[in-house]
Amino acid sequence: MNIKHIYTSMIAATLLVVSCKDTKQSEKTANNTMVAEYKGKPITKEFDAKIDSLVAQMTLEEKTGMLHGNSMFATKAIERLGIPELTMADGPLGVREEISRDSWTAAGWDNDFATYYPAGGGLAATWNTELAYLFGRSVGEEAIARDKDVLLSPAINIIRSPLGGRTYEYFTEDPFLNKKITVPFIVGVQENDVAVCVKHYAANNQETNRDFVDVQIDERTLREIYLPAFEAAVKEAHAYSFMGAYNKFRGEYLCENGYMLNDVLRDEWGFEGIVISDWAAVHDTKKSIENGLDVEMGTPKPFNEFFYADSLIEKVKSGEIAESDVDTHVKRILRMMFTLKSIDDKGRAKGSINTEAHFEDAYKIAAESVVLLKNDKNLLPLKTDNIKSIAVIGHNAMKKNALGGFGAGVKTKREVTPLEGLQNRLPKSIKINYAEGYLERYSNDEKAKLGDITLNGPVTINTLEPKLLEEALNAAKNSDVAIIFAGSNRDYETEASDRASLDLPFGQEELIKKVLEVNPNTIVVFIAGAPFDILDISQKSSSLIWSWFNGSEGGNALADVILGNVNPSGKLPWTMPKKLEDSPAHATNSFPGDESVVYTEGILVGYRWFDTKNVEPLYPFGYGMSYTTFEFSHLKTDKETYNADAIIEVTFNIKNTGKVAGKEVAQLYISDPESYVEKAAQELKGFEKVFLKSGSSKTVTMQLPAKELAYYNEVKKQWLVEPGTYKIKIGNSSRNIKSEVSINIK
Ligand code: BGC
Repeated sequence: MNIKHIYTSMIAATLLVVSCKDTKQSEKTANNTMVAEYKGKPITKEFDAKIDSLVAQMTLEEKTGMLHGNSMFATKAIERLGIPELTMADGPLGVREEISRDSWTAAGWDNDFATYYPAGGGLAATWNTELAYLFGRSVGEEAIARDKDVLLSPAINIIRSPLGGRTYEYFTEDPFLNKKITVPFIVGVQENDVAVCVKHYAANNQETNRDFVDVQIDERTLREIYLPAFEAAVKEAHAYSFMGAYNKFRGEYLCENGYMLNDVLRDEWGFEGIVISDWAAVHDTKKSIENGLDVEMGTPKPFNEFFYADSLIEKVKSGEIAESDVDTHVKRILRMMFTLKSIDDKGRAKGSINTEAHFEDAYKIAAESVVLLKNDKNLLPLKTDNIKSIAVIGHNAMKKNALGGFGAGVKTKREVTPLEGLQNRLPKSIKINYAEGYLERYSNDEKAKLGDITLNGPVTINTLEPKLLEEALNAAKNSDVAIIFAGSNRDYETEASDRASLDLPFGQEELIKKVLEVNPNTIVVFIAGAPFDILDISQKSSSLIWSWFNGSEGGNALADVILGNVNPSGKLPWTMPKKLEDSPAHATNSFPGDESVVYTEGILVGYRWFDTKNVEPLYPFGYGMSYTTFEFSHLKTDKETYNADAIIEVTFNIKNTGKVAGKEVAQLYISDPESYVEKAAQELKGFEKVFLKSGSSKTVTMQLPAKELAYYNEVKKQWLVEPGTYKIKIGNSSRNIKSEVSINIK
């Protein structure tokens, strides 16, 4: 598998660099043979003279036409100067179907089918930077094949509350995992002469009141938790565009926030790309122009009524805004367009879309994302030799998720459901007894419509239909094994609303418990993008699997995990709490706020809270089982004492002690027990997915830059590595540390 492009052989001090030596035999996997380093190419300045001359020929109207939407997903072309529209498309799940030019209705094309890729949670659960790159490259090829300049992806906000409506779309609660998935994804997309649009910058961690909520985060927490992936997107991946979020941050809307757009993004990080507003997130022409927003996009209203249209022209004519400010934005856009070869398109990538190769990419990601939560009776992998019948129960066995809910989906020709996956993979001699079990039903109450869930309470109908229940129980009773496909879907977990609770909707909890009573050989599979309250179910059932809104090939990948054709290697990218109140934003009663929200838990987001406050999660961050077992040993560092700018070389051994080949995610956490400032009990600072055949072992070496131990000092406005003793821990989840060593920083 040759999916790696390395732009430089130099080891950047800011990157965790990993290499592995095989101690037994040469098992080379894509994951462990090369340096885990991805570097993007910056925006080129070589066209600046041409750009100056183009801008000199433009009228004010032509300039402003480039700065705002002139259709739902494009700006205006200047044909006489050979400047095309800047074209955009959502988004995180694949290239969105074509939308009408002036309304949200589908354009009705018959050639806009695309590959549906796993949602963000699934990608992050692979803990595989190679797959993040593969995802980016693959979806980038689709975007350019559809003639898009900008793909409105990746969505990388930190998961602060498990209720967050976009949890399924975002990656993780951890800033380190977040940046390690984000960077290769961006590099992969942009290799196709397509810009990413990294969203939503920043502090867009809830949907409730997202249009106006004023987010208050202290500076240290902002830097340590909410910004690292955005910063890496600029400094390492050279992202060409960012999307300004809907919400306010410290009193100012993000699309007119001088601190975030000018001071941090451009001056500090050196961002040279363009900032595009979220759709209808602009509120003030002058503030946005002066504070760094380049392009205003939005929802339908006459395009001349956009803040960057007639209003901007008037303000320039009256002298309120300098025309040179307008030129600055236009030049940035042109620079990006030349870099993308969209103006002078000689040699521009061609791409391809909706291909077998891309479905295969989606399969690979899905296969590594499935998390085995529990396997007490070794029902899994399911041995089919002695089975004659399987009950497949649950609406989710047939549910498709490529489209749904509020926001971007994908129009695809292929979405393999879990039931179809089993039909594809099971021997024909096995009879499948399907029963829907529960219905996906919502209240008709006008007030309780989708999009208002948090404000108006749950909208689902949670009672079971007696007839469907009976059918399900009969199927379970009359089959050797039962598999329940439960969880949620993209109508229930959706942009524009947060969930009101962690309860499983539609009466599923009752259904699962009743099925478990009649057939002890029951496997429960959740398909969802965010944590749910599964405490009771996980105590009562022996076999649990977690899958995601997992793309075109999700059903095949899931069936392969269930049947053992694929050994599961997914790990949770967030903490599954026992109950909502255990999660930091809820324990501190600081979600979702009202006009404003204060992130009271500070740096203790996700497992940082659970581990520091000694709260037992149901399933910890980084957790996921395998059909084999791994042993970690011989942890050591190359030295005992380091300078603050040194690279700490951490070496350990992993052995596959079970009977089948498998992949394990070695996770490196650090603790600073002697700190003068508040620190989390432990923080992830490295990981590596390692493939091992049964009985074989490897020595893994991780290069941990000492500067990863730094905290952000608000007074000095600097990252500081405190001198003293640190613990370096290796494990396969945040709560399963296998071994630790101490080092000193001078
Ligand atoms: C979402 C963005 C999306 C945009 C365009 C907004 O509602 O927040 O993520 O890219 O719509 O569809």
